[in-house]
Amino acid sequence: MRSSRKGRQWRALTGVSTLLLAAAGCVSAHAQAPPGPASRFVVVLDAAHGGDDAGASIVDDAGKPEPEKAYTLGLSVKLRSLLTARGISVVTTRESDVSLDATQRAAIANHARAQACLSLHASMNGAGVHLFISSLAPAQDANFVPWKTAQAAWVSRSVALAGVLNSALVHGGLTVTLGRTALTTIDSMTCPAVAVEVAPESGRGGDSGVSLDDPAYQAKVADALAAALLEWRAEGAQP
Ligand SMILES: [Zn+2]
Repeated sequence: MRSSRKGRQWRALTGVSTLLLAAAGCVSAHAQAPPGPASRFVVVLDAAHGGDDAGASIVDDAGKPEPEKAYTLGLSVKLRSLLTARGISVVTTRESDVSLDATQRAAIANHARAQACLSLHASMNGAGVHLFISSLAPAQDANFVPWKTAQAAWVSRSVALAGVLNSALVHGGLTVTLGRTALTTIDSMTCPAVAVEVAPESGRGGDSGVSLDDPAYQAKVADALAAALLEWRAEGAQP
């Protein structure tokens, strides 16, 4: 937990910058994020499911079922180490096999005041990586958005983040599908938020299908996501 004094300073700074931007009447898509000091770039990784909620059943190369909750935690750990090695601060919603509801996950993410929030999922359906942003209609005034639809004020930034993720994944040779969905976790997040659902590389059952469990595939996905977040940080640092 950060000290309350520091927390107050941070809130004050954010409030001032928002007012200045609003007064200038030039709030571009990029300018909407609470910028903060360049050194304080924070990413939230939310390993979906956990505890009693196993998520979907993922089948490995040997045909052995693995719960989605274990897959997402593994991806979160891998991605965190890639990001911290590059000097990015990472906040995770869980580090072990525990149950967390959507409200708890969003509370952790929102407390972190992150520049990017990724909710990690896995699925045997489809192929490649599916990126979802909230289906909420964009809201103009963040001050009057209820908790359950707080993401509405961030949708345009989330679309931009999904675009950067898409580019990096495609650049990494991955198939990407973009979509919008109602997800209680990201719908309550006050940060650019994208749900990242990893599916087998070439779809289920194909001869060339690569299992979700394949270490090289996992590394390719994690590397591309890390590259995207570095790009996102670089874009945010531009004037
Ligand atoms: Zn899931």
